[in-house]
Amino acid sequence: MSFCKGCGAPIDWVTTAQARKMPVDEEPVFVIPGDGRDRFVTDEGEVILGRLARPDEEHSPRREVAFVPHWRTCPNADDFRRR
Ligand SMILES: [Zn+2]
Repeated sequence: MSFCKGCGAPIDWVTTAQARKMPVDEEPVFVIPGDGRDRFVTDEGEVILGRLARPDEEHSPRREVAFVPHWRTCPNADDFRRR
């Protein structure tokens, strides 16, 4: 675990299939793949497009567990992108 230099939040780093390191929020989320345009990354580094699952979908067979790229939730994401 490390901490975001922009906002101090705890983050993890996932290596994507493209061998790039992506900062992600520490807490994984449930994602419905293919039903949205938000980007998530699994702990295996696979980037998926989809949307956050609603609470009633958290046990759906469609859902995946993935991480939210930290630049989407970071209040200082603009700083983040420039680095
Ligand atoms: Zn941050």
